[in-house]
Amino acid sequence: MDFEFAAEERAFAEEVERFLDEHATPDVADVCRENMAQIVDTPERRAFMKKLAARGWLGMTWPKEYGGQEKPGIYEYILNEALARRGAPQIGKGVGIIGKTLIRHGSEFLKREFLPKIIGAEIEFAVGYSEPQAGSDAANMQLRATKVGGGWRLDGQKIWTTSAHFADWYWVGARTDPEKPKHDGISLFLVPMNHKGLEIRATWTIGDERTNEVYFDDVFVPDEYLVGERGRGFAYISEALDLERFTMFTFSPIEQKLGELVEYAREAAKDGQPLRADPLVRQRLAQLATQCEVARVLGLRFVDAAQVGKKPPTVEASEYKLFATGLSQRVANAMLDVAGPGAQLRVYTKEAPLRGRSEMTYRYSVIDTIGGGASEIQKNIIARRKLGLPKNF
Ligand SMILES: Cc1cc2nc3c(=O)[nH]c(=O)nc-3n(C[C@H](O)[C@H](O)[C@H](O)COP(=O)(O)OP(=O)(O)OC[C@H]3O[C@@H](n4cnc5c(N)ncnc54)[C@H](O)[C@@H]3O)c2cc1C
Repeated sequence: MDFEFAAEERAFAEEVERFLDEHATPDVADVCRENMAQIVDTPERRAFMKKLAARGWLGMTWPKEYGGQEKPGIYEYILNEALARRGAPQIGKGVGIIGKTLIRHGSEFLKREFLPKIIGAEIEFAVGYSEPQAGSDAANMQLRATKVGGGWRLDGQKIWTTSAHFADWYWVGARTDPEKPKHDGISLFLVPMNHKGLEIRATWTIGDERTNEVYFDDVFVPDEYLVGERGRGFAYISEALDLERFTMFTFSPIEQKLGELVEYAREAAKDGQPLRADPLVRQRLAQLATQCEVARVLGLRFVDAAQVGKKPPTVEASEYKLFATGLSQRVANAMLDVAGPGAQLRVYTKEAPLRGRSEMTYRYSVIDTIGGGASEIQKNIIARRKLGLPKNF
């Protein structure tokens, strides 16, 4: 496998950087805000996404018949990582997860309805799998979908629905067939987020990110908005999660933060001695730099194995997410340790080392090891699917 970019790919990367120099203004791009993947929550950020769309950079890998360019995944990777490195909004759930899953499983009606709006940056999505009794065990979801004339009525509750407070559409799993084994009784629906039967309540996380509880009261969904086949929802959700575990947990912010820490260590002193001369600091930074290379290559392995229209690579997604989010925590720990007591000052504090990013990233990096499936679940997937070990529950 060749890990270097080809000349055309490098030219694209340069074009993206020029675009970002012009358009990644502070109102849309801020590296001090953690993982921006899900955040297209202001008119300015929406306008920024429209500029990406106008360049033809959303859905580059998609089939031409749905407005794509059938480009290799490496182009989307280059774009998404460049956006993340600047703290700008990224390709997100629409292009990276839902569009690709619709291309594989959606009806022609849903493809025609949603795919043009996704690549035109006209709509944002929220994803609803988790419930109070269905987190790691997502197949246990109980949100009820009852068949009625012309569609379905949804009743129940979701938790941890990130983006629900600004998204336009809800990609949501519900139980249509309670008498069947739990994995076979789930179907997937698309519901407008402004439906009058939906109530959204904020939940604030340790990382200052807002997520939500969503309550469904007699929410009617027409038949056409059932994704794929009734009862196949869990299989579609599993594929969507494989895409999420790569797309939403970008690598470049980790590398960018480590770079900032190295710069800090190059200049700062502790007890009158330069940090750059401290053997423990040097060893720690060198180890993290090496681990960054591992995370980068695990990401490239996912890109290499993934093809739009084919089932996403499950093991590669779990290996990447497990390692990258763990590394993100290790970098956060190092930022706090190396920068000393001042690192506990809040983000944006002018006097704080590293602009106060240490305390923010320390809090935030915890939640990345949970959202999209906790680290233990990624280990279970690798143990079963790669190592052939038995199921543990
Ligand atoms: C910031 C954030 C945003 C999120 N956004 C969304 C969203 O948009 N949409 C959505 O649907 N969900 C979302 N989630 C939910 C997320 O997917 C769940 O939190 C996650 O799957 C874990 O589920 P849980 O919280 O119920 O924990 P639990 O499943 O109760 O797990 C608790 C602990 O037990 C461990 N554990 C559980 N089962 C096993 C097992 N079989 N073997 C070993 N260890 C196990 C877990 O790893 C974890 O450490 C989000 C979560 C967070 C934190």
